[in-house]
Amino acid sequence: MPLPPICTTFEPYFLLSPDRLQDILSHFRKEMEDGLESYGKDVAMVPSYVTGVPDGTEQGTFLALDLGGTNLRVCEVRLFGQHKFELKQQKYKVSEELKEGEARVLFDYIADSVDAFLTEIGSDISSNEPMHLGFTFSFPVEQTAIDAGKLLTWTKGFNAKNAIGNDVVKLLQDAFDRKHIHVRCSAIVNDTVGTLLSRSYQSGPALIGAIFGTGTNGAYIDKTRTIKKLGEEKIKEAEAGGQHAGEYMVVNTEWGAFDNGRNCLPVSIFDNKLDRESINPRKQAFEKMVSGMYLGEITRNILLHLIDASVLFNGYSSKTINTHYGYDTAFVSAVEAAKSPEDIKKLIITQLGVDPKHISEGDPEIVQWACKVVSERACALAAVAVAAVVQHTGNDQVKEGEEDKGVDVGIDGSVAEFLPRFAERVSSTLKVLLGEEGGKRVRTGLAKDGSGVGAALTALQAKKAMDKRT
Ligand code: BGC
Ligand code: MG
Repeated sequence: MPLPPICTTFEPYFLLSPDRLQDILSHFRKEMEDGLESYGKDVAMVPSYVTGVPDGTEQGTFLALDLGGTNLRVCEVRLFGQHKFELKQQKYKVSEELKEGEARVLFDYIADSVDAFLTEIGSDISSNEPMHLGFTFSFPVEQTAIDAGKLLTWTKGFNAKNAIGNDVVKLLQDAFDRKHIHVRCSAIVNDTVGTLLSRSYQSGPALIGAIFGTGTNGAYIDKTRTIKKLGEEKIKEAEAGGQHAGEYMVVNTEWGAFDNGRNCLPVSIFDNKLDRESINPRKQAFEKMVSGMYLGEITRNILLHLIDASVLFNGYSSKTINTHYGYDTAFVSAVEAAKSPEDIKKLIITQLGVDPKHISEGDPEIVQWACKVVSERACALAAVAVAAVVQHTGNDQVKEGEEDKGVDVGIDGSVAEFLPRFAERVSSTLKVLLGEEGGKRVRTGLAKDGSGVGAALTALQAKKAMDKRT
C-alpha cells in the first residue's frame, strides 16, 4: 500500500538533501567559531581546562559521580595503567521532585548517595587525605578552572531552583562539608569530555568525545590559542604551561543549543509542538531533533497528526499516544529493528496500547515510516555535528607531512547504542559532507562509561596540577 500523500509532504523536513546538510554544516561551523570568540553564545564552546588526553599509562584510585542521564551514579575507579581499569558502581534514582525542586535538596541527596556508597561499596581507603572525586555534571557550565564553573542553564528533564548562575563544584563541596564527608571534588567534567578521555585512555588518542543519549553534545581538542575569548594574557599563560592549562585544551561545545535562533534546522510542526510543550522552550533546538529524550516524542506528534487526519488507526488514538512523553525512543528503536509489518503491529498493540480493531492494513508501514524519517534525520544531524568539528580542526584532510592515522571519535549514549544502524547512517552522511575520502577517515567507536573513567582521569589531572602548585 502506498503511503498516504500527507506523509510525503512532511518528508523534506526529515530526509535532508546534500545541499541542505551542507548548509546546516556551515551554520554549525559559524556558531562554533562565534562561541570560541565570545562568551554568552548559544553554542557555548566551554573551555574545560583539561589540557590533553591520557595515553593509557595513568594510575590511581578516584571517585566519580555522574549526574545528568537517567540515574545518579557513584563509582570508584581504579586506573591500572596499560589502558586498564576497574570500576565499582552504584546507581541511585533521581526523582522528578529532586530534578525540579530546590538545588540544595538535590545536592544534599547527591552527597548522601556518595556517603552511602562509601559505607556500603567503596574500598576502605584509610588515609588522612580526602578522596579525590571527579564530578561528571552533564549540563552547560561556564568553567573558569578545572574545578570551578557556573551552571548556565538546565537541560533534559532537570529544572532545579536556585542553581543557575551558581558554582556547581561549590554546591557539591558545601553539601559534602555540611555532612562531614571526607571527599574533595577536584574536577568538574562534562560527560563528553569524560568520553573523550576514556576513549583515549582505552584505545589511543581520540579527537572527539560525543554523547547521543538522553541529550546530545560533543567535546574535542583544540589549540588553546583558538579559544580567543580566554584573552591573550590567559592564552599566553596557558601556553607557557601556566597554572591551569597547556598548549591544547579540551573544549566542550554544548552543541545541543545549535541553531536556537532557528536559522537553518528543518523545523516541522511536530518539532514546534514538542518545543512549545517542553520545559525549556526555544532552547536546545539541535538536541530536540537528535537525542533520545525527544525522538519518541517527535514520532508521537507525527502519529497524533495522522490520527487526527484520519489516515491512521481509523482516526482512533490510545491513552499512551495521547500522553505527553507517553512512550520513549526505545519504541522507535524497536520499530526500526522489526523484521515485518506483523512485528510492528505487535509493538503498536503492546507498547502504544492501540486497540487491534482499529489497526488497518498499511498502518504498521505508516508507523514504520514515522520512526524511519525521525531516525534518519537524527543520524544525519549527528553526522553534521561530527563533520563540523572535523573540519574546524582541519582534520578533514591529512595534514601535510603527517601520516594518515584517521580521526577517532568516541561515542556513548542510548541512541548511539540502541538505535539500529546508527553508526552506519552517521558514516554514510559523513561521506556526503566530507567527501568519500574525508568521510572514510573518521572512525567512530562506542566508548561506554566515559562518565566514570573520564571523571577519574580528570580528577587525576587536577590532582597532578594541584600537587605541582603546592
Ligand atoms: C547537556 C550537555 C551534555 C549532553 C549529553 C546536554 O543536554 O547540555 O552538557 O553533555 O546533554 O548528556
Ligand atoms: Mg550518561
